[in-house]
This record gives sequence, C-alpha cells and structure tokens, in this order.
Amino acid sequence: MPTYQRKKHYRKPKSGAQRQSGSQRRSNVPRRETKKQGERIFIYKPDMNVAQVAEAFGLTNAGMIKKLMQLGLMTSINQIIDRDTIEVIALEEGYEVQDEVITDVTRYDEMEIEDDPTDLVKRPPIVTVMGHVDHGKTTLLDTIRQSRVVEGEAGGITQHIGAYQVIRNDQPITFIDTPGHAAFTEMRARGAKVTDICILVVAADDGVMPQTLEALDHAKAAKVPIIVAINKIDKVGSNPERVMTELSEKELIPEAWGGKTPFVPISALKNQGIEELLDVIQLLADIDEFKANPNRLAKGTVIEASLDKGRGPVATLIVETGTLKTGDFIVIGNTYGKVRTMNDDLKKRYTEAKPSQPVEVTGLNEVPQAGDVFMAFEDEKVTRQIALERQSRQREGENKSVKKASLDRMFGDMESSEKELNIIIKGDVQGSIEALRGMLEKIDIAGFHVNVVRSSVGAITENDVTLASASSAIIIGFNVRPTSAVKQFADTEGVEIRLYNIIYRVSEDIEAALKGMLEPTFEEIVTGQAEVRDLFKVSKIGTIAGCYVTDGVVKRDALVRVLREGVVVYEGKLASLKRFKDDAKEVKSGFECGLSIANYNDIKIGDIIEASQMKEVEVD
Ligand code: GDP
Repeated sequence: MPTYQRKKHYRKPKSGAQRQSGSQRRSNVPRRETKKQGERIFIYKPDMNVAQVAEAFGLTNAGMIKKLMQLGLMTSINQIIDRDTIEVIALEEGYEVQDEVITDVTRYDEMEIEDDPTDLVKRPPIVTVMGHVDHGKTTLLDTIRQSRVVEGEAGGITQHIGAYQVIRNDQPITFIDTPGHAAFTEMRARGAKVTDICILVVAADDGVMPQTLEALDHAKAAKVPIIVAINKIDKVGSNPERVMTELSEKELIPEAWGGKTPFVPISALKNQGIEELLDVIQLLADIDEFKANPNRLAKGTVIEASLDKGRGPVATLIVETGTLKTGDFIVIGNTYGKVRTMNDDLKKRYTEAKPSQPVEVTGLNEVPQAGDVFMAFEDEKVTRQIALERQSRQREGENKSVKKASLDRMFGDMESSEKELNIIIKGDVQGSIEALRGMLEKIDIAGFHVNVVRSSVGAITENDVTLASASSAIIIGFNVRPTSAVKQFADTEGVEIRLYNIIYRVSEDIEAALKGMLEPTFEEIVTGQAEVRDLFKVSKIGTIAGCYVTDGVVKRDALVRVLREGVVVYEGKLASLKRFKDDAKEVKSGFECGLSIANYNDIKIGDIIEASQMKEVEVD
C-alpha cells in the first residue's frame, strides 16, 4: 500500500516547493482500493457508523441497512457498527479488512514546519486596526486604502474582501480590513496569528474609552507591538496630551516621554499624519523583521469567507508562508479545493500570492470559517483525504461535545433535566450569523435556552444534517437553502430545517418553540374538604367512606389526601364518588357523599379527605 510521510523539515526543494512522491502517500480515509487485481481493502477505523461503512463498501445507505437486517441487526444510519459485523459484510463483498494506520498527515496544523533560516526572507507586516467605537477605525482604513489611488497604483472601484495591501516606498503593508477586536480575538481564539502590528485608534476629543482598554488587553495578550494613532486632531477641543497621559497609566509610555510606544497624531478624515503613521509601521517592521519562506507550498489563514451567488464559496486568505498559486490544491479548515482564481480588493488577478499577501480565492468546495488555517498540497487525492479526515474528526468532536437527543427528550419523555434546544445556524454572511447566534443564545425561557452546536457561512450540507441528526438539533438557514438532495436526506433523518430571511423572525419562532417545549407547569389547588363519618366495606370495591363535604367541592377526578389528626396518611385519587346510589361528578359543601379511594382501604372515621385539582399555570 502506498504510504505518505510527514515532512518535518523543508529544505529548498528543486522545484521551489515541497514534494511528496506518490509512493510516500497514505490515506487514512476508509475507501475502496484495489490492492491487487480482484483483492479489495476495507480500511477499518473505530466507531464507524452505518453510513460510513456503506460508503466504504460502495453501497447505498439503504442497501447497507438491508444487509444488516439480514444479519438480524436493526440499525439507523448513524449507528456505530462493530468490527466483527464489518468483517462479515466484507467477506460477502469480497473485501479484506485492515486497520487504519494513523499518520500525522491528517493533522497538518500540528506539523512542525521548520524552514531553514537561510530560506527565510523579509515579508510585509500585517496590521490590524483596533479601538473604541466611533474613534475612526473605519475612516482610517478607508483613508489608507484611498492613498493608493493618489499614488496612481489603481483608480478602480475597490471591493471589500477583508484585507488589502498598500505599497509605500516599494514596500507593501497588509491591512486587515475588519476594524475592531472582535474578529481579531475570534481568530486568535481559533489559533490564527494573523497580526504583526496593532494600531490602537484613540479619538483625541474623547480619550481612552472602555473598548480602547479592551483592545489594548487583546493586543497585549497577543504580544503584538502597538502603535497609538491619536485621531481627530483636526477637531476643536481635541486633546492629544490627555490620550498620552491616560495610556501612560496603562503602561503604554509614549516614545516622546522616554517610553517605547509610538504615538502618532492623525486626522483620518482630513488625511493628516497618515504618511507618518505608515512610516512608523515600516520602521517597526524593519526592526522586528517579519520573515517567511516564499519557496514552499503556501500556508496561511482565512480572513473572511462567504457564499457568492455566481462564484460559489469565496474566501479571503492571507498567505503566512510559502507561495500560493492558481491550480494549487488546498485544505482549508475542514474543506478543500483547487485554487481557481485569486484577486485582490481592486479586482486585480494574480497567479501567485506571496507571504503576507491577501487574496480572494475561488474554487473551494465549501465555505470555510474566518480563522481557519489553509495549506496547499500538490496532490488532489491527499488534499481530499485530509479534508475528509478533518471533517470526520470534527464530527466526532462535535458529537462528543453535544448533549445528545435533547430535542427528543424535550418533546418526549421529559426525563431530562437538560433544558437546551440544539441549533445549527447556516447563513450567507458571517455578520448575520453572529447577530443570530448572539440573539438566540440570549433567549432564556424559564431556564430553557439555545445551544448553538455549529454556526457557519454556507449552504446547508449533508454534513450539517448528520450533525443535526446526531445532536437532535434543528437547522436554521438564513438566506441559504438546502439542495433537494440535502432536503431529502434531512427528511429521512427526521431533521427539521427552518429557512428565514429576517433575523427577528428566527428568535420569535425559537422562543415559541421553546415555550411549546416547556413542561406545562401545574399548580395544585385545593377545592374542598370532606369529613369521614361512616364506613362501609363492600366486598369487590373495598372501603366506602360515608362523608360530609364541609368545605368547597369534591370532584370525581380529584386528587385526594387523607388527613388523620392533621397528618397526611395517604395521597391518591378517588376511585368513586356517589350521591346516594348514583355516580356524581361533584359534591358540594353541605352535602353527603360516598367515596372510595383508589388502592386505599384503610380509611377511618374522623379522617379528613382533602380534595384538590391540578391546574396548568402560564409561564412566561
Ligand atoms: P469606527 O467606529 O471606529 O470605525 O469609527 P468611524 O471611522 O466610523 O468614525 C466615526 C465618526 O468619526 C465618523 O463620523 C467619522 O467621519 C468621524 N471621524 C473619523 N475620523 C475623524 C477625524 O480624523 N476627524 C474628524 N473630525 N472626524 C473623524
């Protein structure tokens, strides 16, 4: 069988990229494979479910389920099949079962990629702009972007792709074009380190504000050098000194005061101080020397991704190291693709993207997530295998972390104390998904809340349905639709897909669904009391108590408590209620009645029968 070995050290390859020969590859994905003529191999992995086994044998799910039925096993497609059963089917199908050999190729993000220091060359700095709301982050990013037009580099209309480059003194600088620290933090949380320098924008008329401090914390946590841009210096009443004083108290001592932090007074609106700011960035980059090896297959991070109506999944990538070329096969998060086109925010096409260069890429199979790592490979098969393996690992991880079958429990036997509705959110843009997620996670109806199992950009896929099925989740599609094949799959799996295009409708519906799920809350209401004055033993029925209703009303369907000298001796239900010889629906205070209590004959004269009714109460 062919093997694939992880490469620990990348030396300068002859072709300018690392290569693995065909004989060095190994698949970990169960698949049909021809070993010798007529001899087929089934790669066994622990915890394979019916669907996965079916796929590996090249059978349909239904065909597989039928085969298992013939073996006396009633299964659903998500059920795990043991190795012995697989062996039996393999025998029938003419396969040899072999255990999977785990190699590190499936975990490229854990590969130790060591470039030879002599291969490293300078790369442009990647800059993120952070700061308090309204302090001018967007204006600054726009002004810097526009500065290219002045240089005559481009006059076209720009499109937002999440990152752009400006060339200054022949040196490019990359700007992440999503102001604010939310995106920065999310990416960092996902392990992506895409920022070399952080610009902290503080409005000179407003000073240090809560989000300034938050941004500062994030930049410090990421150990990224900070440049303070004191903005809005054109404004009357602006006070740059105040910003310097306030930040000094937070250990950002201005260079002018003997500290290490550059403070640059600017007006993003009036285009003042921008050149100086760019100078400082390049100075800092010269000192810190950000480096990468352009002569290898590319690796980097997804900055933004979305589903484009015409072009399919598109993602803006920043190359961290290596050179990304059109035609390269890339694993990207849990999906893969072949780089079809690359362009920048000015719609300029590229066939190569160098380290630190942001490019919008098409040719992917699914929409990845911001913060996902990507890596290029030369071989399509390996790329596909790695992506599939990562998908199944993710599924396993998600399945494990998910508290299973909560929806069933809520609608069903109500045994669970879990009060969660599992939801998968799929949408067309990250922004609306985040908004939806935030809104849904805030819902709390009498302790019931929403657990978002997955939220990502892109169409609803079979993968989502499988996860939903495994976790009893419902799928919310926001401005995205499932294909009819996926819809059919969801139907067979019993997975509910709800489609929306208005955000608040989603929360309205989910709230309603949660309310519907609530166990109706009942309250016991005492309706009346009766005193036992006589007893009759009736052979087939048991003890009949001759009572006098002293208070309220005793109803036939009442729950009763037998009180003896103020102590409850029995709780149960009435078995019969009669007025003279006739059955009665209820007997009111001041009347006599005969009653018997289900499964209880030990009534005594003088006992008090307290009758009550359970009444549903509204919760909201
Ligand atoms: P963000 O929320 O930090 O992205 O802030 P914006 O870039 O949207 O700016 C908020 C407001 O401040 C807008 O009305 C801008 O026109 C204004 N603004 C931004 N920079 C300057 C500046 O340098 N001077 C003045 N006077 N106004 C500015």
